[in-house]
Amino acid sequence: MRLPTIPLRSPPYPTMASGSNSLIWFRKGLRIHDNPALEYAVSGSSVLYPVFVIDPHYMEPEPSAFSPGSIRAGLNRIRFLLESLADLDLNLKRLGSRLLVLKGEPSEVLFRCLNEWSIKKLCFEFDTEPYYQALDDKVKKYATAAGIEIYSPVSHTLFNPADIIEKNGGKPPSTYQSFVKLAGEPSWASSPLVTDLNWLPVVGNVGKCPITEVPSIKELGYEDTPEDEKTPFKGGESEGLRRLKASVENKEWVANFEKPKGDPSSFIKPATTVLSPYLKFGCVSSRYFYQCIQEVQRNCKTHTSPPVSLLGQLLWRDFFYTVAFGTPNFDQMKDNNICKQIPWKNDDELLGAWIDARTGFPWIDAIMMQLRKWGWMHHLARHCVACFLTRGDLFVHWEKGRDVFERLLIDSDWAINNGNWLWLSCSSFFYQYNRIYSPISFGKKYDPNGNYIRHFLPILKDMPKEYIYEPWTAPVSVQVKAKCIIGKDYPKPVVDHKLASKECKQILYEAYELNKRLKGNLSEEDLKNLRRKHEEDKRPLPKRLKQTTID
Ligand code: FAD
Repeated sequence: MRLPTIPLRSPPYPTMASGSNSLIWFRKGLRIHDNPALEYAVSGSSVLYPVFVIDPHYMEPEPSAFSPGSIRAGLNRIRFLLESLADLDLNLKRLGSRLLVLKGEPSEVLFRCLNEWSIKKLCFEFDTEPYYQALDDKVKKYATAAGIEIYSPVSHTLFNPADIIEKNGGKPPSTYQSFVKLAGEPSWASSPLVTDLNWLPVVGNVGKCPITEVPSIKELGYEDTPEDEKTPFKGGESEGLRRLKASVENKEWVANFEKPKGDPSSFIKPATTVLSPYLKFGCVSSRYFYQCIQEVQRNCKTHTSPPVSLLGQLLWRDFFYTVAFGTPNFDQMKDNNICKQIPWKNDDELLGAWIDARTGFPWIDAIMMQLRKWGWMHHLARHCVACFLTRGDLFVHWEKGRDVFERLLIDSDWAINNGNWLWLSCSSFFYQYNRIYSPISFGKKYDPNGNYIRHFLPILKDMPKEYIYEPWTAPVSVQVKAKCIIGKDYPKPVVDHKLASKECKQILYEAYELNKRLKGNLSEEDLKNLRRKHEEDKRPLPKRLKQTTID
């Protein structure tokens, strides 16, 4: 494992091990570098059990799902995780240890291990997701009652979300700007992090606990997918650090990084770092990433600043983690006090067309195909499809789109995904619902020849560039020549964009007015009435809500 050049610090524990049995429970944080839970597990321990539990909640094959995978995760993310585990196992072996893989409901598996291995110290990274909060409470109760020491540090994010919330008087900050102001510089920013270990205690006797090697996709009960359905991004700490190093070596690029500039259609060489899946699983430490960016900025005359800089992107991540942690029911519209109540449609046909890349808008369908095949898309591409599904065109509930992203993204992250769907649907954080991404002209601006569309939707590969973003306007003779008849080989558009976006804005206008009048306390009945009224009475737009399209 080769690391970018950040000063190394010796581990803060005696290298002569003596003492008790420890267990490090890996969930995220699949790395050796900057892993405080691992460092503490090592200190004073003669024996260390590094454990990962294959959790059926995430990993059980689900044959009825709309694409291969489990209910919660598509196969690309499951493969990425297995690659990350295999890499972790290799890195542990390099240090004289190994990964112990077990299968089952994590708390039950863990209770058995704690007992059978006479564990005295249990270490795992703090996790803010509701699923892990509940699981960790159960584990902590059990371990405390058994007299086991617990160490659960915050190291997945730059800041401890609880500290920021406390600083803000018990409430999460409502804007990025106020978050950045409150957060300031992280306390560890100028102290070297432990980026490598040179030794690990031996693994003890595992007794009768059913330990396995890291399983293959097939051993988990999945059929492998064809090569062209596999994400090009390989999981693991080694690959994540290689990617990080390649990004920060290009100092000028880091110093000038400015989002939302950057080409969303650039797929051979993506316009951003593609470190998100590595951050999601903790293969790369966000704190280490932060220090690498800091080092570049220190040595540059000028550089961009938050919110648009690369460092600013990491702060967006922490912002969403903080708000998600401090907001009850953050992942739903109901009983979520930062979410506008909007009478979204329940339309499985439109939702199905969006999921299956059959909307008839090539720019939208190509992005949905990239999601299906790669599990990763550029940020602005995500903007386009999320806006299209919700407030832009189809008016389908953001929770439905969130579910699809949650399952298919390799970087799927509870806090960030929900936060961005709230944003894009104008349910929270961002309220300019009259600014809509055009499914036709937005992509054309970056990629007039439609190379991105041709790659992800090969059925349109011979469509002349004049029609590639609107193939339904091509004369039949052109469609015949391009071997793509619209309505037969590729669908007609599911909606008329101009009309649909106008209707979306009208209903959002009314919903916002009602939210204002009722102070957000809308009942099911209020939402039903709004929906009904909208169906019956599609009145002209107020003058001040003229169409604004982002193109
Ligand atoms: P870079 O631009 O290189 O940024 C570096 C890192 O900063 C990213 O890896 C990520 O950790 C963080 N970051 C960047 N943008 C954001 C953002 N807007 N919000 C929070 N953190 C950010 N990102 C996820 O990691 N997981 C998700 O599940 C996810 N779902 C999204 C859903 C929607 C509807 C939208 C619009 C965006 C979503 N994003 C999500 C945010 C963003 O699109 C990705 O983080 C980014 O595109 C990942 O590419 P990158 O690593 O090259 O980013």
